[in-house]
Amino acid sequence: MSTTPELISPTFHYDSPAIVQREAGVKDYMAEYERSIADPDAFWAAEAANFTWTRKWDKVREWDGVHHKWFVGGKTNITLNALDRHAKSDRFNRVAYIWLGEDGSERVVTYGQLYRMVCRFANGLRSLGVGKGDRVVIYMPLTIEGVVSMLACARVGAIHSVVYAGLGHTALRDRITDAEAKVVIAGESGVRRGKPVPLKPIVDEAIDGLECVQHVVVVPRGTEKYEPKSAREVNYFELLKFSSECPAQEMDAEDPLFILYTSGTTGRPKGVVHVHGGYMVGTTYHLRTFFDVNPRDLFWCTSDIGWVVGNSYIVYAPLCAGVTTLFREGAIDWPDPGVAWKIVERYGVTKMFTAPTAIRMFMRYGEELPSAHDLTSLRVIACAGEPLNPEAWHWAQTYLAGDGKWGYVVDNWWQTELAAPTLGTPVTMPYRTGKAGIPLAGVVADVVDADGKPVGVNERGRLVLRGPFPHMMRTAWGDAARYERDWQQIEGAYVTGDVAIKDEHGYIAVLGRADDVLNVAGHRIGTAEVESALVSHPAVGEAAAIGIPDQLRGEVIKVFVLLRSGHNPSDALSAALIEHVRRELGPIATPSHLEFVTALPKTRSGKIMRRYLKAKETGQEIGDISTLEQ
Ligand code: AMP
Repeated sequence: MSTTPELISPTFHYDSPAIVQREAGVKDYMAEYERSIADPDAFWAAEAANFTWTRKWDKVREWDGVHHKWFVGGKTNITLNALDRHAKSDRFNRVAYIWLGEDGSERVVTYGQLYRMVCRFANGLRSLGVGKGDRVVIYMPLTIEGVVSMLACARVGAIHSVVYAGLGHTALRDRITDAEAKVVIAGESGVRRGKPVPLKPIVDEAIDGLECVQHVVVVPRGTEKYEPKSAREVNYFELLKFSSECPAQEMDAEDPLFILYTSGTTGRPKGVVHVHGGYMVGTTYHLRTFFDVNPRDLFWCTSDIGWVVGNSYIVYAPLCAGVTTLFREGAIDWPDPGVAWKIVERYGVTKMFTAPTAIRMFMRYGEELPSAHDLTSLRVIACAGEPLNPEAWHWAQTYLAGDGKWGYVVDNWWQTELAAPTLGTPVTMPYRTGKAGIPLAGVVADVVDADGKPVGVNERGRLVLRGPFPHMMRTAWGDAARYERDWQQIEGAYVTGDVAIKDEHGYIAVLGRADDVLNVAGHRIGTAEVESALVSHPAVGEAAAIGIPDQLRGEVIKVFVLLRSGHNPSDALSAALIEHVRRELGPIATPSHLEFVTALPKTRSGKIMRRYLKAKETGQEIGDISTLEQ
């Protein structure tokens, strides 16, 4: 593998601002890291001891090189830690959430109130026969009710699977079917850019004829009234009329908490399974030590409960830590492009978690917007989801963090499979532009060649993690082999699917995926998903999808379409096909460009050579095409 000088040379070194270092909870991150690696069992046992367990574990870790278990024999329920610990103490009146709507509406929910809402709804779910191990799909806008739904499932031991409410009906149906969900909790509508986004019709289409779904709990919008449209529909508010006490179902540390579907290399979504015990311990640990969030902070996470960032850092970790979290439905630049900075100033946000695509958008709007507000409360702005380009980092560090006078912008890398930051720049350490950072506590990361041997400094290779940590995925729902494959390619290591470079300081730059997965505005989309959506249209014979670089969104999707005989290329057909993908998969997977072709480049074994299409499209070197059928 070769060095890539253009990616290495512009690295710029920036010291952690003095004020951030002074206030940081962990002053010496390397000492913390060394401790976590020297004796992982003792390290994670000490962390786990901060939580409520109804039975202590017998053994910290079991690992056979592929499967891992943590806090074996331990019993708890994550909601005992997320809710009871605060609601049943003198923290019961502490604010858990500040929720904001695009129209300026605000809801403040204390830990005591959240506890009661969750218990009521958990009793409501029990009245529908939902119990331990049942799967519940949640298709909701980013609202308090969405969070309550997740926690209520966890309370009764059901396994939730939140499906991002921007995904289309086929994507939703595939997930409901794969999880064999007994109940779907659905918002009637969401709001984006001032307009209502109807969700219920998408759910109706997704569950049409699906027998596994016994009930659809509908959350009406702007009213508590809802007339069920069929025998299986129930009004969410009818299910709140139960007792505000609901004993938590005792769960094994290894019992599944949720399934979150993500895109892999096949058309079928991958159901990543996370569990009650290790997930709770690990995600909460990194909130405190990496994001440096403590109960005195106001933490704003701009993600959505449909993504792993929202599961971990809007819901579970901040609640387990007893923190106040702000979240907001809708577009971050609506109704005006400066609204984010108004919010930071008005509420005094201290720590923020956002995505590079948002930073690039803010940069495009110009520094006048943040400069018109007092952002001096902001100590840490952490970004994840895709590479944080040096220009975007510079801009954010200058205009959002006052060039270090008050804050620090840091990158962090992880995946749905990993549940929490895995590589990152700790807030007390120097930033190196273009690099996500160093392996975080509990993580041994390496950049290797195809045989698993470490490549040299500044050489490209595959990013692998040597050994598990408590909050890593346990399996792929209904497809254990798919999970096992990621651990079986290189002995003792998990293959992340990303390509990376490690520099002489041990900082790692993550360059992108090694497989056929696209990253559009920080969201994973499989080329196979887009292609199968296209091929499901009667005019399409074959299709290939590639990602092409985009200044704002990181990557956008371009598709190449081979029509079936009897169909002719036209602008109208192109628009219809793009709309078809949007309906099937949702707005985030909508192709930006479509080209009709008369042939697709294929290998001799018949596989579409996307790499060839991509290289031609972006003007890169085509590389080895010896397997291309001429
Ligand atoms: P997801 O599972 O949807 O969170 O997507 C995870 C993928 O996003 C990773 O495998 C990377 O390809 C990419 N990614 C996430 N964070 C970063 C980052 N900080 N730098 C570069 N790529 C990232």
